[in-house]
Amino acid sequence: AAAPTRRSIRELPDELISQIAAGEVVERPASVVRELVDNALDAGATQIQVKLMAGGVRAIVIEDDGLGIPVDELPLALKRHATSKIRSLDDLESVATMGFRGEALAAISSVAEMALLSRCEGAAHAHRLDARSGELAPAARSRGTSIEVRELFFSTPARRKFLKTDATELAHCMEAVRRHALARPDVGFTVWHEGKLVEQWRIASSEQRLSDVLGAEFLAVSRAVFSERGPLRVYGRAGLPEAARSRADMQYVYVNGRFVRDKLIAHGIRSAYEDVLHGHRQPSYVLFIEIAPDRVDVNVHPTKIEVRFRDGREIHQQVRYAVQDALALSRSAAAENLEP
Ligand code: ADP
Ligand code: MG
Repeated sequence: AAAPTRRSIRELPDELISQIAAGEVVERPASVVRELVDNALDAGATQIQVKLMAGGVRAIVIEDDGLGIPVDELPLALKRHATSKIRSLDDLESVATMGFRGEALAAISSVAEMALLSRCEGAAHAHRLDARSGELAPAARSRGTSIEVRELFFSTPARRKFLKTDATELAHCMEAVRRHALARPDVGFTVWHEGKLVEQWRIASSEQRLSDVLGAEFLAVSRAVFSERGPLRVYGRAGLPEAARSRADMQYVYVNGRFVRDKLIAHGIRSAYEDVLHGHRQPSYVLFIEIAPDRVDVNVHPTKIEVRFRDGREIHQQVRYAVQDALALSRSAAAENLEP
């Protein structure tokens, strides 16, 4: 091998720093959808429209009726580590918003073409900022924000090659919206693909939303979960053994409103099913865990899909017993039905 020659240390240019960081946050169109819907929810939106072209690869446009971004802050919204959501480490300990890292818009705009269109209450009109050119122009829309993302990974063909077919990317985008929709029945979601309406979930009760998103069958073959111990609350619905699936594609866990993938919680749930589910059968469930914000660290992963608990064992147990109780209740209910 050739002898190594030393190269001097250099600071990377800002654009490259963002592109590297984007690798962690933006994997595919669905990641963009997730981040932009997070932002719309943080802005207090009650109606969110998701408009996609070619599975989101050509275009993702997300429109909300939230608080908007003041025109003088539009350029800041695109800057890395610029956020309206936290100011200090203390704020981070009690963060109630989905976002707080101030990374998403900067990351997305470094790997796609992007424009922000926004109008606040009381503003005479909207403004549109083109991320690439920096051009700011008057625009028309009602209160709220539209974010347009086009040609994802146009400047990073290596990443673009990892994208699957439009149909697959669309399915991932739909799953991203579904995850939000399950947690926020108080918000209406509409999804369009290639100009055609593909999904509409109107504002509804939690139960109705579950049924709208996962199908009425799921309600019929699942039981309510509820358990409260001090500040720890576990609720939602657990599928009966007959609702088990061959794939783990109906498993939704939320911690303080945020969709997460957590081995500990998944294990707690799985162990509640140990006597009733065999082999590779996968339970279906939607579980919401509410916990004091200082008992959980959400700043573990750039996408915040992983969290760390302070009292892991306790949570594992409570989840397990909550689901067990729900399933046991249904067994005794079934037994009662059999009585003459
Ligand atoms: P974060 O959400 O972590 O703050 P983002 O890069 O996602 O970082 O967004 C940067 C900032 O832009 C947000 O803090 C917020 O003030 C503003 N913003 C982004 N999207 C919206 C939106 N849909 N409505 C209102 N403000 C938004
Ligand atoms: Mg955000």
